[in-house]
Amino acid sequence: KAHQPSMPPSLHAWDSPNGAPTPMPKRLEGKVAIVTGGARGIGEAIVRLFVKHGAKVVIADIDDAAGEALAAALGPHVGFVRCDVSVEEDVERAVERAVARYGRLDVLCNNAGVLGRQTRAAKSILSFDAGEFDRVLRVNALGAALGMKHAALAMTQRRAGSIISVASVAGVLGGLGPHAYTASKHAIVGLTKNAACELGAHGIRVNCISPFGVATPMLINAWRQGHDASTADDADADIDLDIAVPSDQEVEKMEEVVRGLATLKGATLRPRDIAEAALFLASDDSRYISGHNLVVDGGVTTSRNLIG
Ligand code: NAD
Repeated sequence: KAHQPSMPPSLHAWDSPNGAPTPMPKRLEGKVAIVTGGARGIGEAIVRLFVKHGAKVVIADIDDAAGEALAAALGPHVGFVRCDVSVEEDVERAVERAVARYGRLDVLCNNAGVLGRQTRAAKSILSFDAGEFDRVLRVNALGAALGMKHAALAMTQRRAGSIISVASVAGVLGGLGPHAYTASKHAIVGLTKNAACELGAHGIRVNCISPFGVATPMLINAWRQGHDASTADDADADIDLDIAVPSDQEVEKMEEVVRGLATLKGATLRPRDIAEAALFLASDDSRYISGHNLVVDGGVTTSRNLIG
C-alpha cells in the first residue's frame, strides 16, 4: 500500500465523502488577537475576518466611538481598548487587557498608522517639518516596536505567537509617499527582520504585510488633498486627515486608478485582501514563515511603473 502522507486538518476538511465542498475550517479557533488601528479601514477588515475564523479580538485604537461601536456590533468575543500606539503605557495596558479578559495572547497585528501631511511642501526633503516627521515616526515605527515588545513579553510565557505589522510598498520602494512615511515603513520591514531573529528562539514568528492602494479613509483623504488646489501648495495648511468619510464615487475612482497600475489584470485591492494575508500569517498555516514581508499589491511593484 502506498504511503499516505499525513495531512494538516485544514486540508482534510475539503475531503468530504460525497465530494461536496465542506465549509472552510476556522483557522484561528481558540486564539486571542490584538488589532491596533482596528476601528476602521484595513484594521476593521482584519478584526472582522479574525472573528469569523474563531478568534477573540481586542481592538486597540484612538477612535473610541468607532472602536466601541465595532466591538459592540461583533459581540462578546470582541473588546475595545483606547490605545495610542505611540504611548508605551497604552500599549502595555492593551496587552494586559487582552490577557486579563481572554486569558492569553496569540496574535498581535500592528496595523495602526498615519500617512502625515500631504501638501507638496510638507512632502519635500527641502521643506518638511521636523515635528510632523517625528509624529509619523512615533506612531508608525515606534508604535510597531512597542507592540512587538509588549506582545512578545506576554507570548514568551507560552513560547508561541505571531506578530504581524502592516508596512507598505513605501517600505520597499522610494518615491511613494512623504519622507517620514517612507522612512517609517522601511523601519517596520527592518524591525520585522530583527525581531524575527531574536524571537524565533521563543517560538514567536514576526512578519509584515506591504499593501498598495487600498481605498480606505487614509488613502482617499490623501488623494483628495493631492487634487485640492487650495491645499496642494500650502505647506502650512492644517489638514485633518481623519475628518472625511470617503464617498462611494471616490472609492470607485481610487480603485480604478489602482486597477490601472496593477500588473494583475482587474486587480481591485480591498481591505479584505489585506486581511486575508494577515489571517494566513496569524494562523498555523504559516507556521514556518518568519521575518517575511508579504507584498499584497496586485503585482504593482513588479512593474516599477507606479506613477504613470
Ligand atoms: P485608516 O486611516 O483608514 O485607518 C487607520 C486606523 O488607525 C484608524 O482607525 C485610526 O483611528 C487608527 N490610528 C491612527 N493613529 C493611531 C494611533 N496613534 N494609535 C492607535 N490607532 C491609531 O488607514 P488604513 O488605510 O486602514 O491603514 C491601515 C494601515 O495600512 C496603516 O499602517 C497604513 O500605513 C497601511 N497601509 C495602507 C495602505 C492603503 O492603501 N490604504 C497602503 C499601504 C499601507
